[in-house]
Amino acid sequence: MTTLSIMKFGGTSVGSSEAIRVAAGLVRAEHAKGTRVAVVVSAMSGVTNLLLEGAHSASRGNRGWQDLAATLHTRHADTVVSLLTTPAEQSLVRERIDTHIGEFRALCHAVEVLGEASPRALDAISSLGERICMHIMAGHLRESGCAAEAVRSMELIRTDATFQAARPDFDTTRELCRAKLLPLLQNRTVPVITGFIGATAAGAITTLGRGGSDYTAAIIGSVMAADEVVIWTDVDGVMSTDPRIAPNARTLPTVTFREISELAFYGAKVLHPLAVRPMIEHGGTLWIRNTFNPTGPATRIVADGTGSSSAEPLKAVTAIKDQSLVTIEGRGMLGVQGIAARAFGAVARTGTSVTLITQASSEQSICFTVPSPSTERVITALNSEFTGELSRNEIDRIWDRTGVVIVSVVGSGMSTVAGIPGRVFTALGNQHINILAIAQGSSECSISLIVAAEQSDNSVRAIHNLIVT
Ligand code: ADP
Ligand code: ASP
Ligand code: MG
Repeated sequence: MTTLSIMKFGGTSVGSSEAIRVAAGLVRAEHAKGTRVAVVVSAMSGVTNLLLEGAHSASRGNRGWQDLAATLHTRHADTVVSLLTTPAEQSLVRERIDTHIGEFRALCHAVEVLGEASPRALDAISSLGERICMHIMAGHLRESGCAAEAVRSMELIRTDATFQAARPDFDTTRELCRAKLLPLLQNRTVPVITGFIGATAAGAITTLGRGGSDYTAAIIGSVMAADEVVIWTDVDGVMSTDPRIAPNARTLPTVTFREISELAFYGAKVLHPLAVRPMIEHGGTLWIRNTFNPTGPATRIVADGTGSSSAEPLKAVTAIKDQSLVTIEGRGMLGVQGIAARAFGAVARTGTSVTLITQASSEQSICFTVPSPSTERVITALNSEFTGELSRNEIDRIWDRTGVVIVSVVGSGMSTVAGIPGRVFTALGNQHINILAIAQGSSECSISLIVAAEQSDNSVRAIHNLIVT
């Protein structure tokens, strides 16, 4: 059987007619080798943000969405004009753009009338960018001599009804993908699939969460038993840190599954955290490559226990922004059983996931971080859970510090090398950066520190200097 490659192009890689031309060139080159290729596309860069902005403005009764509809129409229509050459493809794709922008207007109007954007409405709206982009890419591939067909991932990815963070039903998804994609692939036709989107059994559109097109590619790669999934993006693979923060960041040629999981979870946007597991389970190769530098450095994700050594104990540093540090403290907590379980139970019931838990040397406080937008809900839930303890002064106070970030340094070699935390703390101390809390990842391949938001970039750079020198 010939090789099957899933090629996923992110927002910048399909962000203009020139970018789409470059991306399509990579697809054609792979296809010409005889590889069976399936393409997954994101929305053009910035489009998902504009769609969501429209939905939110409509829910506040603001008519700004009408201007956004015009902007979105022009952006896509202009791309078609400069990219597509045949009247047939042009009119086909323009018709799709008209339809989907019409849908955007109708949905925003409904949201405005209701005065509320439900998670379900937000998914119907935020999915439109991928639904338009897929037609542009498929049209251009066909015109440039590569058989291609637009495939809506609503027909491939079956999910639950957790709108905005839907989770796939892998068994049904496998059946749907194989039934739809295998005949196309056998026919040497490239399916061009919308990333980010799925649908419930009842046919409601869902999304997998922001940045979810990576997850789409991994899901399809896994259920189709692809030989490789290539995440084509706008940087040279996974780097030692976000190159926007430290321009001296360098590409990591190999990163283990465990390392990339930690990096993705702690904010390295280059890969969606959920995209890792399907690839581990299925065993195909996962690459991160630069669309605009296709022969340049790239990253291959490798099995745990390979590709890392204690010679390079620290590999990468990342930061997750917009967090709050919540503390429950009181001398009366000492030795009282079950406080932590009740605290995390109360947080979970608010639908919030805890990003980090820190260890205290005594039992007089429990400290953890949550995403800032959830802070108020979490504090209210904790106050009500511990009303009794607060009135008996067993708990003195429950408080939050907003405006913090979690800075994480990752490297599976660090568990075997002594003194790593000391080096990290010294690097921050030299920059007069105050560490508010510390946690060591359970996998022993990461250390996370909480610092004030305004010290985020400096902290990343200070730790990064330990890696690159
Ligand atoms: P795409 O639209 O292709 O999915 P994203 O913007 O989601 O791309 O992710 C790529 C971006 O991730 C890069 O432009 C870079 O700024 C950022 N990034 C953050 N951390 C890292 C890292 N460690 N290595 C590479 N890129 C990173
Ligand atoms: N377009 C979606 C987003 O911006 C999904 C993605 O690009 O991966 O979040
Ligand atoms: Mg992304």
